[in-house]
Amino acid sequence: MVDRTVVIHNNTVLMSISATARRTPSEALRQVFGFDQFRPHQQGLVDGLLAGQDVFGVMPTGGGKSLCYQLPAVVMSGCAVVVSPLIALMKDQVDAARANGIRAACVNSAASQEERVEAARAYRAGELDLLYVAPERLCLNGFLDKLRNCPTKQPAFFAIDEAHCLSEWGHDFRPDYLFLSTLKNEFPQVPVAAFTATATHQVAEDIEKRLNLKKAVKVRASFDRKNLHYQVRAKKDWERQLVEFIKARPDQCGIVYRTSRKSVEATAALLRANGVDAQAYHAGMDNDDRSRVQEGFLRDDCRVIVATVAFGMGIDKPDVRYVVHGDLPKNLESYYQETGRAGRDGEPSQCLLLYSPADAFKIVRFFDEIEDERERERNRALLRSMEEFASVPTCRRAALLGYFGEKVAEENCGACDFCDGHFEFVDATRDARIVLSAIARTGERFGAVHLCDIVIGANTKKIRECGHDQLKTYGAGKDQAKNHWRSILDALISGGIVQIPTGDYAVPKLTPQAWKILKGEEKFSQHRDQRIEPEKKASRSAGEEDFPFHQGLFEHLRQVRKKLADARSVPPFVVAGDRTLRQMAALMPLTDSAMLKIHGMGQKKYDEFGEDFLLEIGLYLKKYPEIASERLAALPNQGELKREVSGTYLQTLELLRKNITLAQIAKQRGMAQGTIETHVAKLIEVGMVTDHRKFVSEENEIKIRELIENKGPESLGAIFKAAGEKIPYGEIRIVLACMAAE
Ligand code: ADP
Ligand code: ZN
Repeated sequence: MVDRTVVIHNNTVLMSISATARRTPSEALRQVFGFDQFRPHQQGLVDGLLAGQDVFGVMPTGGGKSLCYQLPAVVMSGCAVVVSPLIALMKDQVDAARANGIRAACVNSAASQEERVEAARAYRAGELDLLYVAPERLCLNGFLDKLRNCPTKQPAFFAIDEAHCLSEWGHDFRPDYLFLSTLKNEFPQVPVAAFTATATHQVAEDIEKRLNLKKAVKVRASFDRKNLHYQVRAKKDWERQLVEFIKARPDQCGIVYRTSRKSVEATAALLRANGVDAQAYHAGMDNDDRSRVQEGFLRDDCRVIVATVAFGMGIDKPDVRYVVHGDLPKNLESYYQETGRAGRDGEPSQCLLLYSPADAFKIVRFFDEIEDERERERNRALLRSMEEFASVPTCRRAALLGYFGEKVAEENCGACDFCDGHFEFVDATRDARIVLSAIARTGERFGAVHLCDIVIGANTKKIRECGHDQLKTYGAGKDQAKNHWRSILDALISGGIVQIPTGDYAVPKLTPQAWKILKGEEKFSQHRDQRIEPEKKASRSAGEEDFPFHQGLFEHLRQVRKKLADARSVPPFVVAGDRTLRQMAALMPLTDSAMLKIHGMGQKKYDEFGEDFLLEIGLYLKKYPEIASERLAALPNQGELKREVSGTYLQTLELLRKNITLAQIAKQRGMAQGTIETHVAKLIEVGMVTDHRKFVSEENEIKIRELIENKGPESLGAIFKAAGEKIPYGEIRIVLACMAAE
């Protein structure tokens, strides 16, 4: 009884709201949404729905899709049902709609029981314009019947948001979306509106077919984001490349995408260690942490988000000025979507992809685990397009839009690295012949990695097993890095000179043209990247600088150090660390003031050894005067990059910054204090912690140093015993680390 009164009561209220709320589309546009005009493409979709037709809108993120269904929902009688997979965003969407005076509610697993009951009641009572539903709710037994249980007996229309989830060719296929295929049978009279920002035609066709759209009004907006600048750079010393890119944009917000959670954590820590205010975001974090990070980014409290692709779905921050991909995305669709999160406000923004062919192989290995063969092949094909985009020098915009079937009108797009003129067209016939010969001599049976290994003369198990070290081509290209040969192969593939048959992943086959080049009948030219990327030296240990020094002088100074140390019966590092000697061999100081600027040459050290080193450097220069031309005026400050150390160290570093004790850190991290002390020692060694006084008193440090200097850097245990077991292990460890860093 009470129930019915309420319903009737609400119905009455509703009728009066609806009566006053009924408006023309342009009135609603102004009064409800506050906009003066429809955007191109919006009008057609809105009119179509109002005329009772099915509609299908394909438009890029930020194109204004939601208005296309929200406005008709307000204008038409009855409630529109919106299906969206973004449960996390539904509440925001409902709140935003309500803020515009639209009567909206949602039912999904995140809503409380009460909220769901209230939404159902309001729907039945005809009090809603918009009902957001998660796809898995819709599939529930009897849910469709419930949708008939309202004053209009059926929804005003169905709006399918993120409709690409229906397509296996999409980047985000969801099996529960397939259920939507039944809507047209269940509600033949109800228009269906589908929306997606996925631009491939294949996906669009799939969606149309799956939804059984009838004579739909189809609108496809251009996917060209003119304010986005695209560039792809060879991924070499990515840490430095990333830090430099971001530090060159100190006042801007950006997103860095990485593939794994671990790399997300480590990259965020790397950036923080280098003075960039960055936060990690990935699916392994709990909800609270994630929303805190997201909020901080939206409010500009944090400038850079390092994220797995989980971040960004529906993030509506208008002023993201750059998106960096630290790893190769799995396909161009994802790449387009992720870069699309930059520059929503239409202002110029940057999209940087750091590309290494090795990334693709990592992804392929991951795909190899997919059991379904069709699925596996599909993923590989999509990845190949992504690789081609990254490796073939051509207008990036034309390549990207071309993939989505759109043509770029301009010859030079004016906003990509290729059109900026970073590539030079050079003859590469010799190099091409080396690669082609490797393919020919191995019988066209091997993939790119192995071929490049042969060319550079690598000593791999596979090469030994196949006897490929006996080939004439083996080592023919050892003057160049492996990536160079890879880029030649890529160029040969993209030029159609070698072909990769489908279904045969990355096994290049020679074409008649390839044979002509091999025989010297034809030439081959290649666009070559003129930008020089910082190389990462594989052998360099953490903390070691990246500057040229004179090897001969360095070796000489090592001998000097040995003599000085022997004379005092101390180990050499007590005299000076390698870093100190390397700096001397680079800067070649000849005055006491220059010597005092060398790392590790404090006044005390100088008093003891400074003169000896000065004298030796002077003599050496006299003997080999020509080496003076190699003297550096100053150390390049690029040596200051704080290298990535593994995530667990960085977590300790974060806590150290909060000024809590080692014991507290150990407790918080659930680790032994000794472990934390090894972290601190490592951080000191690589220069990420510079003030060690917090961990060792000066008094203890002197004692420890004395012991080490007298007894040599024996095992921790020996020093511990020698100190009468009074000085904790951790402090000894930390002093050893300080000495190693000197
Ligand atoms: P999408 O869902 O396609 O990514 P949204 O629906 O979130 O895009 O709209 C993107 C932005 O454009 C929103 O800030 C929205 O308010 C704005 N917008 C949409 N339509 C118009 C319009 N006709 N005039 C001005 N701004 C609009
Ligand atoms: Zn271009």
